[in-house]
Amino acid sequence: MKHKVFVLSMDAMVGEDLAYLADKPNFSRIFKDSARAGKAVTIFPSITYPAHVSMMTGCRPGKTGIYTNYLVGKKKIPGDVPWHLEASEIKVEDYFAAAKRAGRTTAAVYWPVTGNNPNVDWEINELFFYLNEDMEAHFRKYGANDEAIAVVKENITRFPKAKEFAPRPNLGDDFDDFIMGCVCSLIKRDRPDFLVAHNCILDSMRHRRGVFHEKVTRALDDVDMWLGEVADAMKEAGVYEDTDFILCSDHGQRNNVRNMRVNVMLKRGGFLQTDEAGHITEWRARCIANGMSAYIYLRDRSDEETKRAVCDYLKTLAADGVWGFNEVFTAEEIKEKYGTWGDFDFVLNTDGYSSFSENASEPPVGKYDFSDYRSGKATHGYFPEDGAQPVFVARGPSFEPGAYIEQIEVIDEAPTIAHIMGDGLPEAEGRCLFELLRKKPSAD
Ligand SMILES: [Zn+2]
Repeated sequence: MKHKVFVLSMDAMVGEDLAYLADKPNFSRIFKDSARAGKAVTIFPSITYPAHVSMMTGCRPGKTGIYTNYLVGKKKIPGDVPWHLEASEIKVEDYFAAAKRAGRTTAAVYWPVTGNNPNVDWEINELFFYLNEDMEAHFRKYGANDEAIAVVKENITRFPKAKEFAPRPNLGDDFDDFIMGCVCSLIKRDRPDFLVAHNCILDSMRHRRGVFHEKVTRALDDVDMWLGEVADAMKEAGVYEDTDFILCSDHGQRNNVRNMRVNVMLKRGGFLQTDEAGHITEWRARCIANGMSAYIYLRDRSDEETKRAVCDYLKTLAADGVWGFNEVFTAEEIKEKYGTWGDFDFVLNTDGYSSFSENASEPPVGKYDFSDYRSGKATHGYFPEDGAQPVFVARGPSFEPGAYIEQIEVIDEAPTIAHIMGDGLPEAEGRCLFELLRKKPSAD
């Protein structure tokens, strides 16, 4: 029998959360003899989809092709466009391919950009309210087979929309209770060799309340409850001792004080125009926001004169020291610094307390907007070395109890996971974390 591997990404979990969970009944029991990293430095931009793609491929966003949450390459406006959902959008191999080469069965629950991944057997792709689609049709459209649909149906009372009919206590309008129910059902019903899942509750609580808040702490209590539920499911399936259980996250968050409308400044500089309602009608340069960073796109990338003018203008704003950013980075500088490239031309990074939006209506400074994760009370998207840091903790037959590395990168996770499954990821830019593994890994 192959040993099992379960990867749970808790969106926006940070090192400080582990300190709290250390005293909780389930986390403390499950991860008592764990291997861990002091921090898992993420990629730029520190946002969910690019980070999760890097976590499952071992490559940085330039190489994966996923450098924002949205399909912005076509110059559409976030809010009007779908997020990345299809695995075929990723340009490099992921750890599901490695799992298949190692002869493993695979499953993914709400892990970003896994839709219709040919190497995922049981796929339960993300479904959030914004899609407004028939549930079963959506899950099937993105790769769910009959067994995955059965798992969804088994947990349908835990889906937020159905909560009013649910026999369980209402845990709010987040999806995590449903996601963790599906995880437990998969473990018990289908026993996948390799299972990954992604939870959002800490991320959404932080966006709504701030990085550290009583509501975030209560969400951590829920996380501990779910960890216990998963451990019980593993025990029921007889796989608890033989499972490598990896808990990780994609980015931290920082508190946000104000929202800067870069497009308003570009309008003032003469680089874009809007109608009276503030909709962009014409543009030579525009901003696409990643929360605490922003991409600046040029309509005509070969127009060197506009490029110079935009750069000079943004540098003048940066020098003012009041517009939310203190420096302007060229696409070349970002490629060199973080291995991230795409069809953007400049990058702005937060001054430490400002976020950015695409809003093109005066005035240039806005308040929080909880309808958009990028402008909540806390957010992310900033340079990866800043703020509270993501986590990596693992226990099971492959991991050396008590092993510790001060700092890893999230791109080290996929090569490490591919290795413990008995294969590798030749394209990965990250490395296998041998220091965290047992000297003699179990034979299978
Ligand atoms: Zn995230």
